[in-house]
Amino acid sequence: MLALALTADLTGVTELIPLDTSEEPFFYNFKVQCTSCREVHPNWVSVSRYESNEVSGSKGEANFVWRCKSCKRESTATIKNPPRAYSQSSPPQRRNIIEFDCRGLEFTQFKPDGEWIAKGLESSTKFTGIDLQEGEWFDYDEKAGDEVSIKDMKWEIIRA
Ligand SMILES: [Zn+2]
Repeated sequence: MLALALTADLTGVTELIPLDTSEEPFFYNFKVQCTSCREVHPNWVSVSRYESNEVSGSKGEANFVWRCKSCKRESTATIKNPPRAYSQSSPPQRRNIIEFDCRGLEFTQFKPDGEWIAKGLESSTKFTGIDLQEGEWFDYDEKAGDEVSIKDMKWEIIRA
């Protein structure tokens, strides 16, 4: 299993999680490496836990089915569980957001496209539409009367 792990400095917010429901599926964007020929492919690929694709020559299905352009082998990735929220801590700790069962491929790099949501740390404020693509995010919590932010994000793909 591979996990997408995040370390980030959250100020005033917690429970950061991708918006990932059957109505609004999240697309996890990765660079992918073939574990047979070790080729790293230049294009980003998208994986959704609500998509299922047939695996050639089997009755199985996977969220992501991919054929290596170099060695032509087919490989798959499947998301086993819903994403886990990243909770605020000081100092920031690395936590797994989502885990993948990968067969024949590995993800090497993650790009945080898509919408994230979070909650006020001391308030009940719900933050939606959080965009993490710029590497940091700033807002204001009206109920807490204070600025909130997400900074120093570090994405890693680790063995789970
Ligand atoms: Zn290959």
